This record gives sequence, C-alpha cells and structure tokens, in this order.
Amino acid sequence: DWTASVIKQAEIDKYLDGGKDFIDEEQIFADIEKYKNPDKQQVRDILQKSLDIKILTPAETATLLNVEDPELLHEMQEAALEVKKKVYDNRIVFFAPLYLSNLCVNSCKYCGFRAENKDEVRHVLTMDEVRDEVAAVIDEGHKRMIAVYGEHPKNGADYIADSISTIYSVKRTTPTGNGFNNIRRVNVNAAPMEIADMKKLWRAGIGTFQVFQETYHRGRYAELHPANTVKGNYRWRLYAMHRAMEAGVDDVAIGALFGLYDWKFDVMGLVHHAWDLEKHFGIGPHTVSFPRMQPAPGSFLSEHSPYIVSDEAMKRVVSVLRLAIPYSGLIVTARENPDLKRDLINHYGCTQTDASSKLGIGAYAKKLKQEENPDKVQFMLGDQRSLDEVIRELAHDGMITSFCTAGYRCGRTGDKIMNLLEKGVEGKFCKLNAVLTFREYLNDYASPETREIGEKLIAQELQEIENMPFFTDKKLLPTFRSYYDRIARGERDLYM
Ligand code: SF4
Repeated sequence: DWTASVIKQAEIDKYLDGGKDFIDEEQIFADIEKYKNPDKQQVRDILQKSLDIKILTPAETATLLNVEDPELLHEMQEAALEVKKKVYDNRIVFFAPLYLSNLCVNSCKYCGFRAENKDEVRHVLTMDEVRDEVAAVIDEGHKRMIAVYGEHPKNGADYIADSISTIYSVKRTTPTGNGFNNIRRVNVNAAPMEIADMKKLWRAGIGTFQVFQETYHRGRYAELHPANTVKGNYRWRLYAMHRAMEAGVDDVAIGALFGLYDWKFDVMGLVHHAWDLEKHFGIGPHTVSFPRMQPAPGSFLSEHSPYIVSDEAMKRVVSVLRLAIPYSGLIVTARENPDLKRDLINHYGCTQTDASSKLGIGAYAKKLKQEENPDKVQFMLGDQRSLDEVIRELAHDGMITSFCTAGYRCGRTGDKIMNLLEKGVEGKFCKLNAVLTFREYLNDYASPETREIGEKLIAQELQEIENMPFFTDKKLLPTFRSYYDRIARGERDLYM
C-alpha cells in the first residue's frame, strides 16, 4: 500500500520521450564499444572543449572513458585539474552529514539499513535530538550540512521539512565568544518524492536535493532492489530530480554507487542524466557524487560484488566526470581512505568533502566512535579524522577551506549560478567568501597548528585578491576589506 501510495505514475510519464526514458542501454554499450582506441588528436580536441567549460556529449565521454594510453591519461588528469582551477580555483568546500533516521521500507542488498536487517536498532531523531546533534556538529566548526533520511512513512516530507527548519534554528556561541555559529545551508539526501512534497521542502529552505540512482543499469538495479519496494521502481528514482526542479528546487545532486555495476556504464549514466536535466530545465546537476561501495554491517554484497572499483579506476572516474560535466561540483566523502581522498581533491578535481563525520543515529551528541555503534550505520567510513585535521592537511597542500553559502542566500543558484560558473564569475565571489569564512574558522575553531598553516595561506589569498583586476574593476575591494576587518574583530556571517 505504501509503495502504491508513493509513486505517482503521471509524474514519471510526462518526462518520457515516446514512452522511453533517457537511459538507452544499447546505445550506451554501443558508444563504449565504438569509441575504443581513440586517436590522440580526437582526445585532445575533447579536452579543449572541456577547458572551454562545455558539457561533453555521451560520445565524447565514451571516448575519454576508453583512453588507456598513459601519456593521454596524464593529459586528461592535467586538463581535469585545469578545469577545476578555472571553475573552483583552490577551494575545497566542507560539509557534515547528519543521519536523522535509519528506518527504511526498502531492502537494497548493499545497505545496512535495509528493512530485512533485523539486527538493526531503529530510531528516528526527535526534534530535541536533532537540535543536540546539530549543536555538536556546529561546535566542530561546520556551517553546511547534508541531512540524510531512510525511506519510511515516519520520516516523510513533513518530518523532513520540520527537521530542516529545526537545523536552521540552532545557533551556538563560538568557543571564543565571538558571536554565534550556525548551519547556513541544509542539503537533503532522501527518497524520491512527488512534486507536492518537494514543494514542502522548498518552502522549508532546502539547499540542494540529492538522490543517487545507485546504478543506471536496469537489470542490475532490479537484482539489487526488490520489485515490491518503492525503490524497486527504477523510473520513479530516475526522474526524482526532474520533479524536484519542477517544484522549484533549482540545485539538484545526482550520483551513482560505484561497485554495483561496471563503472564506465555508470559514468555514462550520470552524463546522460546531466544532459536530460539540461534538456528539460536548461541546467545540469549542481553536484555529482560517486561513492564507492564500502563494507556495510549485514551486507554480503558489499564485500563480494564482482564490480568492485579499484583506486586507479576511481581516479579515472573523477577525471572523466570533471571533464564531462565541468561546471558541477564533485564530492568525495569520508567513505574513502585519507590518502585517496587527498589525491582526488589535489590532483583529480574533487571540490567538496566531509570531515568529522558520524553516521550513527544520534552519534554526534553522544560522541560515539564508529566502532561503538557498528550496527547502526549504513556503511563503514574510511576516514574518521576531525574537521581540523583535514582542513590542516589540505591547507598544507594549498587548498583553502570554504564554508561559503552566500551564492544560495544571494539568489545565485540554479541557472544563474551555472551561467556564472561557466563564465568564471561565481568563482571570483567564492574566492572572497572562502577567505571570509576561513577567517571565521581560524579565529573560532582552529587548533594552533592549523592556525599557523592557515594564516600563511590566507595571507597568500589576500595578496592574490588585491592583485586581481576583476575585483578592482567591479569595485568589490573596499567592501571585502571592510568585511574582513569586521570578521577579524568578531562579527560573523558577512558575505558578498
Ligand atoms: Fe533504505 Fe537507502 Fe538503505 Fe536502500 S540504501 S535500504 S533506500 S536506506
């Protein structure tokens, strides 16, 4: 009954083209086959198109996926990094995941939360508990959050909307007593919803709405998601972002769980998804995720999938996605081990990550380590370091942490931000806001070691800003300098 009540067939059908969805498996396999052994000039022409910040066609993506020549692979990596620099410069955005519920009606074979996993202790956070969790996350220094929910009537759209409002309402005095810190952007990872429910989340102030297709391959999808569950409906999930955009949510995030099926096929699926969003709404995904399957309590599949993706293949996944959808943020999470994560950020084009993450329900407030609640997590983390440690490591590598949420609050979202990203303008605003939010972090939360490295980095950034003609031409420098000084003196949350 629940399944039937959730799925609105008319909201799928309206986006089909002659009864077909946008994943044409035969065409994807044919493209992967057809563009094998690409010649060097062909690949270099495609790289140039990416450098002009243009989304690649599926055929061009298939060509890059087929590159095996080490010299060309190196050129691809360099081009991917250059694209990242053009659009995102040396910024890395941090967020914290917050799991609000592990109740789920679905039975995905790779997930510790699946309904048939009877060992799981189930709980939905009350709003008081949400406040406690958010307070603990804010006290780490975070300002952005992704709220994560299983699929269950007890945590449907009304619960999600209430919890978004609750998360925004929590304010904490900073450790130094300089004003307050709060979560300034709440993104949501939840089950696909109908348009009316998406509107509720929009009204509650949702940032980005994120749904992962898991795998775009229909047959494999059917094997992993029992047909009698909501999630068993492939197309309901496939068009979740179309419905979100129709409801007014203009920042959407797509992803696939790598390790479920052939990685080249799923990269092609993501690119087709981006194209179909462009076709219907004029903009692609705000971010793309490519989590790799990790061990999950009670899940046989997570340790025995025939499609496990190696570290080397992950680097190619990131390079190709960076080049194929150049304006989208790329997210690497604490699922990955610290070394690979660092490499994917510094050398392959990832732009967002998490740190000090806890996946247990209620684990932030109770300060539970992963080992202390092994039966309450969706999967196991590869990186359990604190936010301070990860910020310090990346600052050492020349990456400035940004907690900027200004674009969203100044209306630079959706097609507006995409245009600005493509022209490299949004990146300039982000540079200023990264420095302002990093200044806040260094003053309020950084350890002495992190502050020492961070001060050097921020001094370099200030120097660059002073020397960039764009800021002088746009007369932005006086405001920026005044905001920077006011923050240094204790004011908070000033942005451009
Ligand atoms: Fe539920 Fe998501 Fe886990 Fe599937 S992956 S069982 S939908 S929580």
